[in-house]
Amino acid sequence: MLAALPIFAFDPAFHSYLEKRARVRLEALTRGSLGLAEMRLDQATTTLVELAAAGINDCNPMALDAMRLAEFATPNIKGLAILGDQGRTLCTHVGIVVEPHAVSREYPLSDQRFALAAVRFRNYGDRAIQLRLQRPNGRSLAALVAAESLLPDIDFEDSDSSKRLRLMLEGGEVVATRPTGDEGTGLDDGRGLVVQRRSVRYPIVVIAERSFGMIVKEYEDLLNVGRLAGIVFVAFIFGFLWLSLRRNQNDPVAALKRAIDNKEIVPFFQPSVDTKNGRVCGAEVLARWRRPDGTLVSPAHFIPLAEQSGLIYDLTRALMKRARDEMGAAYAARPRLRLGFNLFAGHLADAKIVEDVKAIFEGSPIALDQIMLEVTERAPLPDLAEARRVIAMLQELGIKVAIDDVGTGHGGLSYLLKLGVDIIKIDKMFVDAISTERYSQTIIETLVELARSMGMEVIAEGVETFEQVEYLRLKGIHEAQGFVFAPPLPASSYLALVEAMERPHLKVVPDLLAAVGSAA
Ligand code: C2E
Ligand code: CA
Ligand code: CA
Repeated sequence: MLAALPIFAFDPAFHSYLEKRARVRLEALTRGSLGLAEMRLDQATTTLVELAAAGINDCNPMALDAMRLAEFATPNIKGLAILGDQGRTLCTHVGIVVEPHAVSREYPLSDQRFALAAVRFRNYGDRAIQLRLQRPNGRSLAALVAAESLLPDIDFEDSDSSKRLRLMLEGGEVVATRPTGDEGTGLDDGRGLVVQRRSVRYPIVVIAERSFGMIVKEYEDLLNVGRLAGIVFVAFIFGFLWLSLRRNQNDPVAALKRAIDNKEIVPFFQPSVDTKNGRVCGAEVLARWRRPDGTLVSPAHFIPLAEQSGLIYDLTRALMKRARDEMGAAYAARPRLRLGFNLFAGHLADAKIVEDVKAIFEGSPIALDQIMLEVTERAPLPDLAEARRVIAMLQELGIKVAIDDVGTGHGGLSYLLKLGVDIIKIDKMFVDAISTERYSQTIIETLVELARSMGMEVIAEGVETFEQVEYLRLKGIHEAQGFVFAPPLPASSYLALVEAMERPHLKVVPDLLAAVGSAA
């Protein structure tokens, strides 16, 4: 199948090339052959004109001598004769001996004194062209030009039955053929090239034919080389395509791009909860890669790649749109619910993110003041002044900006102050150390104080135990996020949770919190 392709592709092109080439050759052959025939006929007309000029008109000895001499001097003239009424031969250059022959109908030349006809001799089947020059008293001078001399003696290879050359009169009478004696009307395989050329001076036509099958056969070797080259070429192309496909499949960036385009990156929602009353404050959107087979890939496996490759911008936009569509109705009905998205440092390098958020949420069921954007402290921001400007633009729209993973980065407190954010998220690391390490508690206390004095809110992350919840509540941290409440959830589970928390008889968490509070 694969091999047939290049043959299909190559053969038609090669055949048309061969046909063009063969046609050019045949045209040259007919041109040369017609030239030769015209030259022979010219020699005969010249001889006739000379004899007429010498006054040859009657069959007297002088006339016979003159004709004999002329015949001798002009090699291709088969005979000369003086004709009487209705073409009857009165005498020839050899006397009055006349071979029995048949003459076709005559064609006048443009010089009206001349006429041309085909002649066939009965005894041997020889043929000739008779040129006749009209003389006074109903007499004519005639010259016979041997048929063989009219076509070139080209070398037709023994086996080459594919080529044929014919000279005919305008009316179709065949005068000469090559190979000699071949008067067939068409070539064997019926598929052939035919080229013909008509004389402007004589009523003759030269026809050259060539069987196409033979042309192809002649070039069989070349054709096979071409086919082979075609196969190699196509194999090369297929190999190349296969390799680049493989490379593409193995290329993780290309795979991630496909995943974004195919909507395989989906938002999960991790609720944050009010530690005083157990109400859901909102959710942080966390990316998951849901592969076509249903398996979920954690963001740790693709977010770093997305950031390095720049795909993070597309990914973030895709997540925002999808979260908007999934949460629109619930959030429109609950204007106090917040929806947080994670940004990476590059997002704050220019104002594009402002445009993106506006384009996605402006006029949507989710108001801009329900949006929170988290910027991690782990990676340093490339341009602090620009980040500050972008954050201010976001806040101008009512969007909340949070610093994520506070306490883990290199920025320190001065960093937080310079950026002017609305919320700080205390990292899990400090929450974990609450019960064991005193310094963690000190840091948390300092952060809460700082936040309070700067008018910032505090959210604690990675809260896993009620002991931690209790501590946070006592320290005045009123919002917490962590497995103690819920892990990141698919949209439907998160929405179910939001609804369940609103029903009085299902206030499990608030009741638990109240119990913890009264026990303290
Ligand atoms: P993060 O922003 O600090 O998100 C919180 C991570 O902590 C989430 O992991 C969450 O599942 C996990 N977590 C929450 N509560 C608990 C808890 O009580 N215990 C423990 N052990 N873990 C908890 P996740 O979803 O694997 O996300 C990991 C990180 O990937 C995120 O950390 C964030 O930096 C990044 N990420 C996720 N989605 C996005 C995104 O859309 N954009 C960007 N730029 N980064 C994202
Ligand atoms: Ca986060
Ligand atoms: Ca975090």
